[in-house]
Amino acid sequence: MLRFLFLVCYALSGLQCGAGSSSDTLAPAAAPDPFPEAAVRASLDSYRTQTITTRRFKQSDLEPLLRALPEGFTVDTAGRSVEDRPLWRVSWGGGGTQVLLWSQMHGDEPTATAALFDLFNWLEGTEPELDSLRTLLREELHLTFLPMLNPDGAARYQRRNALGIDLNRDALHLTSPEARLLKEERDRLDAAWGFNLHDQGIYYSAGFPAERGCALSILAPAYDWEKTMGPKREDAAQLIALMNHYWQDSLPAQVGRYNDDFEPRAFGDNLQKWGTRTILIESGGLASDPEKQRIRRQNLLGIIAGLHGIATGAYESYPLADYWQIPENQSNGMHEVILENVAVERDGQTYVMDVGLRIRERTTGPDYREFTPTAYVSDLGDLHTFGAFYRYDAAGQRMELDGTLDIGAPANFKFFGLDGALLTTVIDGRLSKR
Ligand SMILES: [Zn+2]
Repeated sequence: MLRFLFLVCYALSGLQCGAGSSSDTLAPAAAPDPFPEAAVRASLDSYRTQTITTRRFKQSDLEPLLRALPEGFTVDTAGRSVEDRPLWRVSWGGGGTQVLLWSQMHGDEPTATAALFDLFNWLEGTEPELDSLRTLLREELHLTFLPMLNPDGAARYQRRNALGIDLNRDALHLTSPEARLLKEERDRLDAAWGFNLHDQGIYYSAGFPAERGCALSILAPAYDWEKTMGPKREDAAQLIALMNHYWQDSLPAQVGRYNDDFEPRAFGDNLQKWGTRTILIESGGLASDPEKQRIRRQNLLGIIAGLHGIATGAYESYPLADYWQIPENQSNGMHEVILENVAVERDGQTYVMDVGLRIRERTTGPDYREFTPTAYVSDLGDLHTFGAFYRYDAAGQRMELDGTLDIGAPANFKFFGLDGALLTTVIDGRLSKR
């Protein structure tokens, strides 16, 4: 009973995801300069940007961080947004391999922006066991970052820019100044590699039937309708296989691969077409990580490993099969909570079913920083093929409805324990204290 109370309370207090299916990745055969995995993992937390702890930060929160970047970085304003906010460009390293990384082209997808600021700290860190790695990256790579490419959207915590355009469908028309900047930077650098950094919904599963959710989803996007695997797309897939090798230690079976249907208007697909080896990373969900701070850390790990793989060529030793072995993700494979086998009463009859609940956020407050999470009914019936962050066997227990259970509607019910005592009341998706 207490566990049920706990998980419902938890579910209503935040957001999550978690799960996948297994994929064994082969270790690389004798990489030229081995990745100092243990030292990198041990270093991550000390470079965390302490002033960013949640998702709903704004460009104004990042500005002091940007101004404080050490000398190793070049920072400038490369363009202006529709609402005249600066579009920042940060560069680092003196090598010949051009790597372009951009985040938050969708304003409500901030996780990787936080990770990039952590990466800035990490790149100029000092522990001796990582000096040679940093030197290698500095000498081999030239990194160009466009962090928070859609600051107007971020200001409202919305996907689209101030024109209402989805920047990731503006790669050809280039109506938006933000999209134009991204295209100009790719062309100016003729970037060899591109990291396209997003967030996705938290209820994707890694594979289906779902066991676990997608903490991260990845893709080496297609560049034509035939989904041809040209040499550069293969490189991108192999680099993803390398990154996934490291992720699997932290997120076993919780990385999913996106469907690679060609989207002719999207940036990832077009960068791949324009000759940049492009890697999509989407931050998803994890149980007990409503603000995605653990996922942020995995972004940092994956990007550092990926940069090492590029600088050394280590990705070449990862078979393409490792990429295809990553399970395809499914957008609605997960629920926040599944109450299994609960007796639902209606008009004097009792029906035993599984009840799925998910959480949605309703933005409140004038500056889009506050939100209220509410539980809604996400599915009913036999849900054994779905995953859940919290699964509870409610056999022998009953749910009394206030009205009906309607898919998509806020949850309204009373839940009774085996002894018939009232355990929980949920009103309009919120836990009610009784
Ligand atoms: Zn996105």
